[in-house]
Amino acid sequence: EYLAQLEQLEPTVNSFLTVTGELALAQAQQVDVQLAAGESLGLLSGIPLGLKDNLCTHGIRTTCASKVLGNFVPPYESTVTQRLAQAGAICLGKTNLDEFAMGSSTENSAYQLTANPWDPQRVPGGSSGGSAAAVAAGECVAALGSDTGGSIRQPASFCGIVGLKPTYGRVSRYGLVAYASSLDQIGPLAYTVEDAAILLQAVAGHDSRDATSIPQPVPDYGQALRPRLNQRSKRRIGVIQETFGSGLDPVVQAAVEKAIQQLQELGAEIQVISCPRFRYGLPAYYIIAPSEASSNLARYDGVKYGLRTDDTSLMSMYTRTRAQGFGAEVKRRIMIGTYALSAGYYDAYYLKAQKVRTLIKQDFENAFNQVDVLVCPTSPTTAFQAGEKTDDPLGMYLSDLMTIPVNLAGLPAMSLPCGFDEQGLPIGLQLISNVLREDLLFEVGYAYE
Ligand code: GLN
Repeated sequence: EYLAQLEQLEPTVNSFLTVTGELALAQAQQVDVQLAAGESLGLLSGIPLGLKDNLCTHGIRTTCASKVLGNFVPPYESTVTQRLAQAGAICLGKTNLDEFAMGSSTENSAYQLTANPWDPQRVPGGSSGGSAAAVAAGECVAALGSDTGGSIRQPASFCGIVGLKPTYGRVSRYGLVAYASSLDQIGPLAYTVEDAAILLQAVAGHDSRDATSIPQPVPDYGQALRPRLNQRSKRRIGVIQETFGSGLDPVVQAAVEKAIQQLQELGAEIQVISCPRFRYGLPAYYIIAPSEASSNLARYDGVKYGLRTDDTSLMSMYTRTRAQGFGAEVKRRIMIGTYALSAGYYDAYYLKAQKVRTLIKQDFENAFNQVDVLVCPTSPTTAFQAGEKTDDPLGMYLSDLMTIPVNLAGLPAMSLPCGFDEQGLPIGLQLISNVLREDLLFEVGYAYE
């Protein structure tokens, strides 16, 4: 059924780079066999999912939407996709993204443009735009994405679905193609808060193959789903004052304010919180993320993976492979990162950005001494027109203003739908909680939804 739906919608939505129809049908038959044999089923048995194409899948092409990995078929499986398969999930295919997850509209894909299912002239957000559009269009039940600076939450907001970035280290990054390793985290995109909780349950937990994975047991997230916010104790929710400044679309502001009022009616205590260093998140991110990216992407040299130009000299093969293989945004970031890390500039840029990162973390620590959950808009606007910001990298970067500080501090956060603008485009509400308190996001999100 889902494959048929996908076939019908893909010509307009274009959310998949690879459709694994045969594999999906084989996996579905396996579930039938299990059922017939009276075997117990896994948490996700028979559930068709989409996987962002920066997650390594054994034997299935994994491109990162880059020409440089156009023919890369991983010889190993990422931990998350392995856990999904163990839970019985069905893989429908690999979803489109901005090349190497760098972008906010999925327009940086080297292969195709993905449409926002609410309005095909508009972008689905990014970089997990393929995953978000696929879920919103009903091409799959849920999907996995990755979030380095907002890439799960912003597309979830633009496509009117739920998207969650877990605590840094909650989900193993083994087999996720690295963009900025100290910020990258894998998480679910789904229709409902409950679905997101189930998907996180299936993939979270310690993994010895990722040195940054947290060795803590995973709680039963189902326990967190309650209809009101004062059943255990009165939940304290903080509104981040600084996110309501200039640049915020008034329609988005009105929808988020209405949502905050509803949270109060559900039993929460509302308080205004100041995070004065929040606004330095964006500049700090655009030093740290490109720096890490410039190092991580050094491996695409034509020798180890993917594309290799036909050259007789080694140096010319390196340079031409990289010149032809990478798109403009990836090159821009490699250059920014190389510059920021170079001798003489390291202290002025990279080290300073890391100090700012600590200050932002302190703002959050202060906030969580006063409240359980923070709330703000996910993105300052609703989905923009395709092509509107492609020549304006700074304008594009600004759409992650409110999601990026969360990655810098390693915290969990969720975007969930909170209404529509005049054009009928969805608006997203962002909830942020303290380290490893995904349960609070589920509790508040579920009660609100
Ligand atoms: N849009 C941001 C960027 O371009 C965030 C990307 C992400 O989270 N992967 O870097």
